[in-house]
Amino acid sequence: MSPWHAATVVAARQLTATSRILVLAVPGFTGARPGQHVDVRLTAPDGYQASRSYSLAATGTDERVELAVAAVPDGEVSPYLVEVARPGDAMEVRGPLGGWFVWDPADPAPVLLVAGGSGVVPLVAMLRARADAGVGTPFRLVLSVRTAADVLFADELAVPDDGVLVHRVVTRADDGDRPAGRLTADDLLAPGFGPDDAPGVFVCGPTGFVEHAATLLTGLGHRAARVRTERFGGTS
Ligand SMILES: Cc1cc2nc3c(=O)[nH]c(=O)nc-3n(C[C@H](O)[C@H](O)[C@H](O)COP(=O)(O)OP(=O)(O)OC[C@H]3O[C@@H](n4cnc5c(N)ncnc54)[C@H](O)[C@@H]3O)c2cc1C
Repeated sequence: MSPWHAATVVAARQLTATSRILVLAVPGFTGARPGQHVDVRLTAPDGYQASRSYSLAATGTDERVELAVAAVPDGEVSPYLVEVARPGDAMEVRGPLGGWFVWDPADPAPVLLVAGGSGVVPLVAMLRARADAGVGTPFRLVLSVRTAADVLFADELAVPDDGVLVHRVVTRADDGDRPAGRLTADDLLAPGFGPDDAPGVFVCGPTGFVEHAATLLTGLGHRAARVRTERFGGTS
């Protein structure tokens, strides 16, 4: 297992009412691949420690790590990171971690991204890596959120790069022509990639969402081996 590195919060920016970006300075951090995550460890004054995994929203090599954290109600760590942590705070980071849920910019296959809530974070890293690499690989993002106000990186996703289409699914309210309701097979087909396009598929979000989406995808005919999943925990 990789060692823990000292990290310092250098910036914090609100993303939605219940989420925010934290930028950490991590001396010695040499970058990551799009889709990877780190473990973050907090130590209380009495020595009590808690660690959780957070995806990297960007994969730069400038000894900085960008995280986007959504507060889970009654959670131990995430409300602290969203509401309390501030520039100057010390924590520790281990990683980058994960070698399977990773997009390779050299892979020309089309890509279908499917996110539930904060599951969009590693998928934003993939979109940013696509832009940085200057490749035209077609990308589609199906993004499921409870309400329109819950979209992380809303400004960035509102103006996608050429070759990228975003389909938004709002589950708790009607949204334009789409009635409220959980993700459907039609939502997964809406942005235009079906199994015949043989896309690489990345699904990320709360465990229940990922299992539901993966079942829909294989039901549509996507090959299970092409569907990579990352479960953030929880049941919904
Ligand atoms: C590889 C990986 C990457 C992750 N990346 C991110 C990320 O980029 N941004 C982010 O905000 N979170 C991410 N997570 C989730 C994160 O690690 C924590 O699980 C989350 O912040 C909740 O921690 P907590 O201490 O606040 O809640 P806990 O005290 O651990 O849990 C409190 C309650 O909330 C439930 N719960 C835990 N996690 C979730 C969840 N994700 N959704 C719904 N209910 C949950 C638990 O079952 C429990 O009932 C990632 C998880 C993994 C495994």
